[in-house]
Amino acid sequence: MNEMAVGMDGPVGQADQEIPILFLHEVERTYRQGEAALNILNGAELALWPGQSVALVAPSGAGKSTLLHVAGLLEHPDHGDVYIDGRSTAILPDHERTRIRRNEIGFVYQSHHLLPEFSALENVVLPQLIRGLGRREAKKRAIELLDYLGLHNRIDHRPAELSGGEQQRVAIARAVANAPRILLADEPTGNLDIKTADHVFAAFTQLVRASGLATIIATHNMEIADRMDRRVTIQDGLVIELD
Ligand code: ADP
Repeated sequence: MNEMAVGMDGPVGQADQEIPILFLHEVERTYRQGEAALNILNGAELALWPGQSVALVAPSGAGKSTLLHVAGLLEHPDHGDVYIDGRSTAILPDHERTRIRRNEIGFVYQSHHLLPEFSALENVVLPQLIRGLGRREAKKRAIELLDYLGLHNRIDHRPAELSGGEQQRVAIARAVANAPRILLADEPTGNLDIKTADHVFAAFTQLVRASGLATIIATHNMEIADRMDRRVTIQDGLVIELD
């Protein structure tokens, strides 16, 4: 499944003609630091297949966040392309990249980034309204998701009234509110104690598997990494398969 043939129309899986939902092709990302150039990604290739979970395990500063930002169309690569469901995004206008990001990609960060003045429910409803869903439908889905993540008696709480683990579960519900096909998570349990991290991660994987999402999760936690379908790292600006 991992062997790729890259044609004019983007990547094609050789085994069964299925295409990756996300494909990073020859991605380069360089930051300037004074006179020096930091080649954080230097020809990185990564194919993520529908429904697949990948752990991105690398030391701090290796480029995990950079890779997730490029994959999630939050940053442009300096060279190379990001294909979403076989479609090149390199030359798309910003509004089209934003549309793809909003509809196809969910993000979970190390800090929850929930809106403090809104309840858990409203935090999950809002992205759906922005996408154009009606309030009633958005609310129904938000309640279902929060229920699923074990937060049925917390939906009216504001973030400050929730524990760290509960806040992250709301953030996960928000990330998948618009039923994306890709979920990108940047050390989502990094701020939590081990027991809470385990609990949140269990909810995360259950949701990912139930919804058939493809996911990349950057993590330092090898136990979490071991439960993913694949493990990759970043070395010398390239994505390397572990195992
Ligand atoms: P990780 O997520 O693996 O810790 P990052 O992708 O955040 O790594 O960062 C990789 C390297 O790139 C780090 O050395 C960081 O300082 C540098 N870096 C990240 N973003 C920027 C930026 N906007 N400008 C300059 N350097 C950056």
